[in-house]
Amino acid sequence: MEPSPAVAQLSQSIRDVPDFPKPGIVFKDITTLLRDPRLLHLALDEMAGLVQSAALHVDRVVAIESRGFILGAALADRLGAGFVPIRKPGKLPWRTVAASYTLEYGTDSIEMHADGLDATDEVLIVDDLIATGGTAAAAGELVARLGARVAAYLFLIELTFLSGRDKLAESPVLSLIRF
Ligand code: AMP
Repeated sequence: MEPSPAVAQLSQSIRDVPDFPKPGIVFKDITTLLRDPRLLHLALDEMAGLVQSAALHVDRVVAIESRGFILGAALADRLGAGFVPIRKPGKLPWRTVAASYTLEYGTDSIEMHADGLDATDEVLIVDDLIATGGTAAAAGELVARLGARVAAYLFLIELTFLSGRDKLAESPVLSLIRF
């Protein structure tokens, strides 16, 4: 399906940076979108629109350090939801729960405050981009660990050729721009 004019415009504003942060990776740089007030507003409108079209109720947005925070906090406010950060190990000051996930070489882990969610919460997990889906799956595991429910995952960008959404089969996966 052809992307809408809005999505095409957002897509064109994203800068490809080859071989960053290491050889062979084409980094999708969203700073070129974020710096433009009109495009930032449009991206948030379109992302909030995906949530509204799916008729989802969201109590809290859980977002992943660090680019996920930029979109996640603004979306939480638009959706009338609270905001809960997920960070790299050792950054959060209170008691945490942690989940590990596999990278190309080795493993990484992420943490969330143990009192970040209530067991009754309907949660929207937000990040700027889904690649292999490992990070988002680990975020989903943290939400489940606190007894809350992942209402959906939402990404500005999906790298479809990596099939990351297959790792998130238990909840709807929404994405705005697909490469
Ligand atoms: P993954 O766990 O493989 O889905 O990777 C997702 C996380 O890594 C997100 O937090 C992204 O911001 C970041 N990431 C992975 N690949 C890229 C890429 N090509 N360009 C920008 N960010 C990326």
